[in-house]
Amino acid sequence: MAALGGQGRAAAALLRRGPGPAAVLGAGPRRHRHQHKEKWATTAPRIPSTRLALHHFDTTYSLHLRELWPSVRAGLLCEQKYGALLNNFSAPSHVIQELELLNATDFISEALRKAQQSQRGAAAREAMRGSWEGSVEGGTVMQTETMTEAETSPLLPFCASINPKIKCYTFPRGDITRFCPARPDTLGLLGYYLMDAASLLPVLALDVQQDDLVLDLCAAPGGKTLALLQTGLCVSGGHLAANDVSISRTKRLHQILHNYVPKEVRETVSVTSYDGRDWKDIEGGTFHKVLVDVPCTTDRHSAMEEDNNIFHKRRTKERQMLPMLQLQLLMAGIRSTKPGGEVVYSTCSLSPLQNECVIERAVEIAETEFNINIHVVDLSHFRTLFQDTFSFFSDCRLGELVLPHLTANFGPMYFCKLRRM
Ligand code: SAM
Repeated sequence: MAALGGQGRAAAALLRRGPGPAAVLGAGPRRHRHQHKEKWATTAPRIPSTRLALHHFDTTYSLHLRELWPSVRAGLLCEQKYGALLNNFSAPSHVIQELELLNATDFISEALRKAQQSQRGAAAREAMRGSWEGSVEGGTVMQTETMTEAETSPLLPFCASINPKIKCYTFPRGDITRFCPARPDTLGLLGYYLMDAASLLPVLALDVQQDDLVLDLCAAPGGKTLALLQTGLCVSGGHLAANDVSISRTKRLHQILHNYVPKEVRETVSVTSYDGRDWKDIEGGTFHKVLVDVPCTTDRHSAMEEDNNIFHKRRTKERQMLPMLQLQLLMAGIRSTKPGGEVVYSTCSLSPLQNECVIERAVEIAETEFNINIHVVDLSHFRTLFQDTFSFFSDCRLGELVLPHLTANFGPMYFCKLRRM
């Protein structure tokens, strides 16, 4: 805990040190001489939280992302791109037709199709080379050995872990068309859910299987819970627990389930409002898969919106404590997982303090304090599979990070997968 606590304090010190961010931004507290009274008063014009956030990002992310930062910054400050998560519980074929007419495509099945196509191409090239080498070397000798699918396309084994039932329509790179709000079908269920398409990557990385017990520890408002339900695997046989400490946000989760999921299915989801940090005491070591989508600095929101902004001066302490809360939630997630089970940790921040550092510290604490060995699962195939849709950061120490980009303005989204050994 000490390292993260120290880094938290360092971040706080960064904001306090020197003339202060306000002064650096040219809007610092000024001392005004009162006309009639011979004394000095301090008035501090309120600095918008968005400006404080940007100043903080400029200071820290320019060091982390270096030459990429100006383009990521531009992405953060421009309109975000959405994806339409298809609702398999409504009338999907009719909705698919409408979305395809708009020139939107399902980025997941498109990526899988391209991986298979490149495998077929590689296999064909290999076969041609084999038969050519065989006839040259041996005269009449036929080349009989063929390469395995995995050898010809390194992506193919990973495709099996991507659930094709999750379908999310996006417009091509550079196309900033917006989706219309979804309409209800005859049963009142909405056809699609609009969300940051990068938010689906942690769900895909979780790779839910038939009969898995799944926990979504910080679930509200419920985009990822809804995506988990689209797999169909948490419905029959398996079980999905969706938890969020906030009662008001849990109400939004109930609303989403009501608008998208038939009654008989939503009744199988257990929705709770516990503090996720205590989850381990409630049902320790029971789940096959756990999603830990933690509260974070929500960088895009913090850079653009004054409302509910975590960079507001009043929330400084809360912001500085975030890495600690994230670590505690991740530890609870790890301890809720069965041996052999898997946890996906995610944030919508670019901050290494909230991303890689939390993972590193959790792995260390799991081992030293709980005798739990953790393996960090390689997800680099996500970068290759989904490169047409997202801009990935190629230098993440651990896990994967989607960077906002003007031509593909999704994210930020960090995700990292851990296996409990
Ligand atoms: N997974 C959600 C989705 O896809 O819609 C978004 C989750 S949001 C990033 C983080 C959530 O963590 C918030 O809804 C917040 O209420 C919840 N949260 C914060 N502290 C928590 C805690 N101690 N235990 C459980 N949930 C918590």
